[in-house]
Amino acid sequence: MPQRPTHRLNLYLVPEQEPSELRLKEGLSRLEAWGVLDGARPGPRAEELVAGGFAMLRVDRPGRTIVYGNRQGGYRVRCPGCEHNLVPEFNRALATLSLVSCPGCAKAHRLRDLHFAPPVAFGRCALELRRVGAPELRPAGAALLREALGDFATIGSRG
Ligand SMILES: [Zn+2]
Repeated sequence: MPQRPTHRLNLYLVPEQEPSELRLKEGLSRLEAWGVLDGARPGPRAEELVAGGFAMLRVDRPGRTIVYGNRQGGYRVRCPGCEHNLVPEFNRALATLSLVSCPGCAKAHRLRDLHFAPPVAFGRCALELRRVGAPELRPAGAALLREALGDFATIGSRG
């Protein structure tokens, strides 16, 4: 039976500070020790990280700051000051991570300060949990990850 698209939900866990290679490795080791992870595959206690478990964990390191967001259906980007639609300006500024000048209020804004719907996260690194059973980590799983990697954003992506 073909899977419905809603079953293909991935979660990006995007650390606020890019962890060093060593810290990342240690963090993944802790997940393995906890039984959540077995290499790139879910461990016997994967359900304690996210309800319904996950199919695979992948470390994404694009080598530059990118936007992690829902890759299906696009998103809205608005000025934090005047709510002007800034999608075209945002897409231009993304390549260089420059400031975005708003045609609505003529002010320059940092990319991170723009209003995104649905939410996005900026980062140079993310843990990608493929095909999760739920759109959020369990509190205990989130706490363990926070201990290992510092604060992070959770971004759901379908498709
Ligand atoms: Zn504006």
